[in-house]
Amino acid sequence: MKLHDIRHWVFDMDGTLTVAVHDFAAIRVALDIPPQSDILGHLAALPADEAAAKHAWLLEHERDLALGSRPAPGAVALVRELAGRGCRLGILTRNARELAHVTLQAIGIAECFPKAHILGRDEAEPKPSPEGLLHIAQAWNVNPAEMVMVGDHHIDLDCGRAAGTRTVLVNQPHNDWPELADWHAADCRALQVLLG
Ligand SMILES: [Mg+2]
Repeated sequence: MKLHDIRHWVFDMDGTLTVAVHDFAAIRVALDIPPQSDILGHLAALPADEAAAKHAWLLEHERDLALGSRPAPGAVALVRELAGRGCRLGILTRNARELAHVTLQAIGIAECFPKAHILGRDEAEPKPSPEGLLHIAQAWNVNPAEMVMVGDHHIDLDCGRAAGTRTVLVNQPHNDWPELADWHAADCRALQVLLG
């Protein structure tokens, strides 16, 4: 299958459609999370009241980041071209759905993503779980093999592999995970070129 033939596209958001601004090391320090721990996984294991307080802090911190979002090079043109071709578009993010919408609005492509097809950390088990992708596949009534997951991190690729979708690694200079990525593009501009 050629990338050109794929009509169902799911994007990671932070660092894929936007310039990455999350300082995860600083977030871990602020929330007293060990340096190597998965932030959402760590919070999930805390007592309920402590987890709620830390989730609230995270949401506020991320709201500020969302309002100041900048698009990744080529991301706006790529998304608009796919939308113009009639492709179905979704977002699968470890961010919150509401903030994903704020972010997409800030970079000017919110109208390309129906809100029902923006899944955040509260709508599905966070990546690398395939749950979110499988949910979107079901909503679109499409075989995962006919979908592609686009992301800047191996978590996105793991998620795609687990769900049985195709995968694209973007915004990384090299393909560090050739066994996980079906395609690699240095940025969204290069990905648009790959589309042909
Ligand atoms: Mg990312």
